[in-house]
Amino acid sequence: MQKTVSVVIPCYNESEVIDYTVEELLNVTNSIEGYQFELIFVNDGSADDTEAKLLNYSKQHEIVRLISFSRNFGHQPAVSAGIEAATGDAVVLIDADLQDPPHLIKDMIELWEKGYDVVYGTRENREGESRFKLASAKWFYRILNYLSEVSIPLDTGDFRLMDRQVVNQLNAMPEKNRFIRGMVSWIGFNQTSIRYQRNARFAGETKYPLRKMLKFGLDGILSFSVKPLKLSIIMGFISSGIALLMLLYTVYVRLATDHWQSGWASMLVAMLFIGGVQLISIGILGEYIARIYNESKNRPLYIVKKNLGQKNDDETSRSS
Ligand code: UDP
Ligand code: MG
Repeated sequence: MQKTVSVVIPCYNESEVIDYTVEELLNVTNSIEGYQFELIFVNDGSADDTEAKLLNYSKQHEIVRLISFSRNFGHQPAVSAGIEAATGDAVVLIDADLQDPPHLIKDMIELWEKGYDVVYGTRENREGESRFKLASAKWFYRILNYLSEVSIPLDTGDFRLMDRQVVNQLNAMPEKNRFIRGMVSWIGFNQTSIRYQRNARFAGETKYPLRKMLKFGLDGILSFSVKPLKLSIIMGFISSGIALLMLLYTVYVRLATDHWQSGWASMLVAMLFIGGVQLISIGILGEYIARIYNESKNRPLYIVKKNLGQKNDDETSRSS
């Protein structure tokens, strides 16, 4: 039996480019022999005629499917819906604006057949983006990687192929603030990358204004690191340490010299002490909140790849 590959394309107000995208994807998938394809377009509440166009294509071509949201929910929810609806043995995520070259799907499939479970595209070069976007993206991926407990590949977006077993794990993760590229890293299995030049947008303009970029960046950092929560406990200890030194100095000035003022020492000692205690207390709260947060994400405790020497050696995972 032929394997099926699903391609998920989130679309938000992409009327200007969608005809080219559909055509290009149909061409590419037609040219790859030996596989069945389904193209799942997720219309994320577009206000233009993206939905009408896609509806038309879905009537013309059997492999085109359409999911349409009731309003704009955002890129990551749109991708999640597509992944959930996909029936393929592998799922490819690709943007609707042809920034990620569709012909790479062939290379991704080849690597998948060699045994890789995730093949992600790493951007070697990005054309047609503002300086601000380039610099902020560059720093974002580096800070995220530093903060995160799993290593998340640098300069890598959602353009990727995932094997069915990775997709199943992804679907089983119930968290609401989804940062898919991080979740896929977290899931593990055999992952590899292909490097590519990211083109400029084929038509239209970015659907990621600063506001959405910030939300997305915060989701990434906060979903994959509790280090910001732990910051105050570190600050608490540092400031308490400094306070202790100042405290000793204050007492020394009060007792051993004669240029002190009345009330100065007692007030400063009280202030420094309370400041330190407050920061440490907030830090302790942070530690508890970090634990509650991690529990509430409800990710599996671990994911088993192989379990040899047992009767039932299915891939299994256990919920925490
Ligand atoms: N997108 C979406 N919902 C949104 C914003 C974007 O589905 O709220 C889609 C968009 O149609 C495109 C992809 O997500 O297919 C990436 O968006 P865009 O190209 O505007 O982002 P950029 O490449 O500029 O970061
Ligand atoms: Mg784009």
